[in-house]
Amino acid sequence: MSLVVVLTGFSFLLGLVIGSFLNVVICRYNTGETLWGRSRCFTCGRELSFKELFPLLSFLIQKGKCRNCLSKISWQYPIVEFLTALLFALSFLKISSGVDISMVTRPSFWAALFSAWAFIAILIVIAVYDYRHKIIPDFLVVLAIFLGLLGAWLSLERSGFANQMIFALHGLLLAGPTLALPLAGLWFISYGRWLGLGDAKLAYALGVFLGLSRGIVAFLLSFWIGAIIGLILIILGRFQYLWFRKFSLKSELPFAPFLIAGALLSWLLPANWLSWLIFF
Ligand SMILES: [Zn+2]
Repeated sequence: MSLVVVLTGFSFLLGLVIGSFLNVVICRYNTGETLWGRSRCFTCGRELSFKELFPLLSFLIQKGKCRNCLSKISWQYPIVEFLTALLFALSFLKISSGVDISMVTRPSFWAALFSAWAFIAILIVIAVYDYRHKIIPDFLVVLAIFLGLLGAWLSLERSGFANQMIFALHGLLLAGPTLALPLAGLWFISYGRWLGLGDAKLAYALGVFLGLSRGIVAFLLSFWIGAIIGLILIILGRFQYLWFRKFSLKSELPFAPFLIAGALLSWLLPANWLSWLIFF
């Protein structure tokens, strides 16, 4: 097996484990619970055994139910685990495809990869937290700005202190504000009804990580994704399908998951694909 296949598989498995941890962070953030205690069933309160803690597998084997009280386990768990694993594997492929494969023996390669993984992890926490609570906690978004800056600094696309410094300043002073200001403007004129100020701060973090051109692509993609998903939900809601019933034109969709989906696509997709996407 080639090295790339092995390391992609490793990235995927590590992503499953980290995704499982991110679920704990999402559920316990701001609840006063520590991150280190054993997980329990939310319904019957029984502590989960070792067998029930395997990412993705436990959910599939137990068919999404608690082994003790048979209450349903939230789909959030397997979805977050799988998404984290997929994004970890894809970011390994992205970063390794841009350089010679012998780079995987260098610390700079792993620094670039780990900083990208850390930024992706905080974005996943923010997306799901915003979906659940319709708010982005300040602490998480400040952490995202810091990790975005770190990821941009350690990226292999820019080598040398001068280049790193120029890109960091570009992100902090130009790309970040350019993405954040329109959202802050919408927040201001709508008195916070259309979106939250947290969305503007998140856009700043994305700008710092992506830079201006990829940042603008991310912005356009997130509006497209939001429009398409919004339309699908409205149509399904019209026909009263299942739980889609709860969506209508009036329901407010959280904006952060769309911004984050757009940013990750813009970062992961090859540049020549992106020009096509914008064209349409
Ligand atoms: Zn239970």
